[in-house]
Amino acid sequence: MERKEFQAESKRLLELMIHSIYTHKEIFLREILSNASDAIDKLCYRSLTDEQVGMKREDFAITIRPDQEARTLTVSDNGIGMNDTDLEQNLGVIASSGTFQFRQELDKDAESDVIGQFGVGFYSAFMVADHITVVTRKYGDEQGWRWESDGVEGYTIEPCRKDTVGTDIIMHLKADEEPEEYSQYLQEHTLQRLVKKYSDYIRFPIRMEMTRSKRKEGCPEDKPEYEEIKEWETLNSMVPLWQRKKSEVTREEYDKFYQEHFGDFAPPQSVITVSAEGAVTYKALLFIPSQPSGQYYTEDFEPGLQLYSSGVMIMDKCADLLPECFNFVRGVVDSPDLSLNISRELLQHDRQLKVISNNLEKKIRSELERMLKDDREGYEKFYRSFGRQLKLSALNNYGAMKEKLQDLLLFYSSTQKKLVTLGEYVSRMPEEQKYIYYASGDSVEAVDHLPQTELLKDRSMEILYFTDKTDEFIPDIFRTYGDKAFRSAVDGDLELGDEKQPETADHQETLDFLKETLGSRVDQVKASSKLKSHPVCLTSGEGMTFEMEKYFAAVQP
Ligand code: ADP
Ligand code: MG
Repeated sequence: MERKEFQAESKRLLELMIHSIYTHKEIFLREILSNASDAIDKLCYRSLTDEQVGMKREDFAITIRPDQEARTLTVSDNGIGMNDTDLEQNLGVIASSGTFQFRQELDKDAESDVIGQFGVGFYSAFMVADHITVVTRKYGDEQGWRWESDGVEGYTIEPCRKDTVGTDIIMHLKADEEPEEYSQYLQEHTLQRLVKKYSDYIRFPIRMEMTRSKRKEGCPEDKPEYEEIKEWETLNSMVPLWQRKKSEVTREEYDKFYQEHFGDFAPPQSVITVSAEGAVTYKALLFIPSQPSGQYYTEDFEPGLQLYSSGVMIMDKCADLLPECFNFVRGVVDSPDLSLNISRELLQHDRQLKVISNNLEKKIRSELERMLKDDREGYEKFYRSFGRQLKLSALNNYGAMKEKLQDLLLFYSSTQKKLVTLGEYVSRMPEEQKYIYYASGDSVEAVDHLPQTELLKDRSMEILYFTDKTDEFIPDIFRTYGDKAFRSAVDGDLELGDEKQPETADHQETLDFLKETLGSRVDQVKASSKLKSHPVCLTSGEGMTFEMEKYFAAVQP
């Protein structure tokens, strides 16, 4: 038997992985299961044209067998298998040498992230195993082969007997340095959890014998006795909801999936499905929650979508996929174009993620527009939960997103007595009205009582109430909506065109008296045409409005 050395760069990669951070170690199972699934894919595909294979789709399966005594975890498949040359070529070297060169350019943090997100295939098993045996027989061969390695120095290949076609990967787990560090991978519930987490949508059954306690037959009703039995169970659900046609999935199924998958008590308000082909091929299943999660408005909130590649989860919260303005959306994106293999350039992934994110932005926006049009009540409910995020995003970066978001914003209207859009406001403007009038205050009631709004109200002119702290920035950053500028009903000159000019001269004595009395507490005392039933009101001068002054006073340390 000949002992062979790993290539130098394989050794270095092994070294790196073995010292990779704890939480990434568990992905070894995902990698091994993905390989088993790939191997089955190949034979399954062949069986379509080659009758000799003699297998039907439902005959294919992957099994997981933990063995406490031997301290081994075995993953078996009845896929295509490997001969000695395949073993040499596939397991002797890292698939692509370009991979490693690219890795060297990354810093340490990025390196461990790549391991966690994109994996490095078969070698990742050495993160948890100190010895791996591969027993395999290739389809069409009689001879089986055994590949063995303890990961450091090299590997051996020798002929062996194997009765069936396929591959067993036998991993002998390392000794624990912390409690359960590696032993956990022999526990049924850990294995079950990891399959659910990463490999739930592998398209072939992943089976394991599970220990169940069952009531003994014939024991008395009031004194039940239990015995432990072992039963083979399929751990993965196989068909991802997002791969099914929307017309074939019920709303109940979507709701159940959302609630289980994202741990929300309430069903989602909206479901968005996307199936894209072109620059990047992917499917997406998105949900607009019906309420913000407890964390949404805290610093702990982590936005992002789950990223899958052909049914295998590669990242739990991929923020790059989700446009900031819609960061409340939950969901999954599955793209076969995002290979699990890091030998593809990460840069390419970035570009693909950007393409997807831009498309999703459009889809989410049009769903919100649809809601606004067809389900006003639903939209208003949504807006109460997440409207603030839309507004902040519209204001961000000096309104870079203004055009895309302005029609999704709602404000309380003085004449409609409900939330309206800017478009609705403008559509009701009489021809001679030049401006979009607004008035700010802490609440609808507070604005209602502003003396300065009396004149406009008296003429039945519509005023938008800015009751959110951020609203005050809209006139400044948006400047206009369409061709209409904003004008404060409180502070500005209303320019109604027909206002009676207050006769300052008639009141000069009173005005002087007031200015004298109030001294430096006010800048000026002027006569006004805005007031009707109130004798006097406060107005801010040029520049900042009252509300902005209040806002800045509040945020200043
Ligand atoms: P990748 O899966 O990205 O090709 P891996 O390191 O995971 O890289 O696997 C390397 C190669 O080893 C695979 O491409 C495949 O040819 C072979 N291989 C691994 N596991 C199996 C298996 N269970 N059955 C058949 N071939 C396998
Ligand atoms: Mg692989």
